[in-house]
Amino acid sequence: MTEIGFIDKVNWMNKIYSILHDLENYLNFQKTLGVRGVINPREKISDQQKQAEAPKETLMELLRKEMGNCTRCKLHPTRKNLVFGTGDLYSELVFVGEAPGADEDIQGEPFVGKAGMLLTKIIQSMGYDRKEVYIANIIKCRPPNNRNPETDEIQQCEPFLIKQLSILKPKVICALGTFAAQTLLKTQERISLLRGKFHSYQGIKVMPTYHPAYLLRNPSEKRSVWEDVKLVMKELGKKIN
Ligand code: SF4
Repeated sequence: MTEIGFIDKVNWMNKIYSILHDLENYLNFQKTLGVRGVINPREKISDQQKQAEAPKETLMELLRKEMGNCTRCKLHPTRKNLVFGTGDLYSELVFVGEAPGADEDIQGEPFVGKAGMLLTKIIQSMGYDRKEVYIANIIKCRPPNNRNPETDEIQQCEPFLIKQLSILKPKVICALGTFAAQTLLKTQERISLLRGKFHSYQGIKVMPTYHPAYLLRNPSEKRSVWEDVKLVMKELGKKIN
């Protein structure tokens, strides 16, 4: 019995030695192919996890790099600057407008002209500094002569806004004007019917309201915008005077 047990042990040792030898040969072969390590499946991090863990600054920088000197739609030859977006990446509140105008095109920043000054006042009346919110547009390049954005331009540019919003993850989006509201909410409804109540975009509350440029032409509608922003303030727990 003792002798058979000893022979079994020797056989097993030989088998294990042979397996280890094969493994060594396999790893050496992989090395010649350029493999420099193996992944432990338990430690494997999915791309989604990596994205969730990367700082928003990095993700936004990567997105800006991805856009580069964008030529994806017919607006690129006439623009001076691509207007990406600006503000606090960690803000609970994001404003989305339509497209850059002449001043924005020159400065490369959204809402810096007369309409921008009015938006700044609206933001301040809500108890925020302009730097404390994030501001972007549906399309990033100025349409010639400030004409309305066209469907093909929105289709080409909207994916960048979608990515921006998925990085920002605000609590509330304030959609400024018809194009912003209709694009985000995938509707043809008029802004006058959309405003005044919350809608949903990817689980984020959306408050459509009039565009500041429209308010400059129709100052009587400032009261409606104040009603809309009061609802936003209430949602965000801001004090309403
Ligand atoms: S509007 Fe958007 S899609 Fe068109 S060129 Fe500018 S960045 Fe590119």
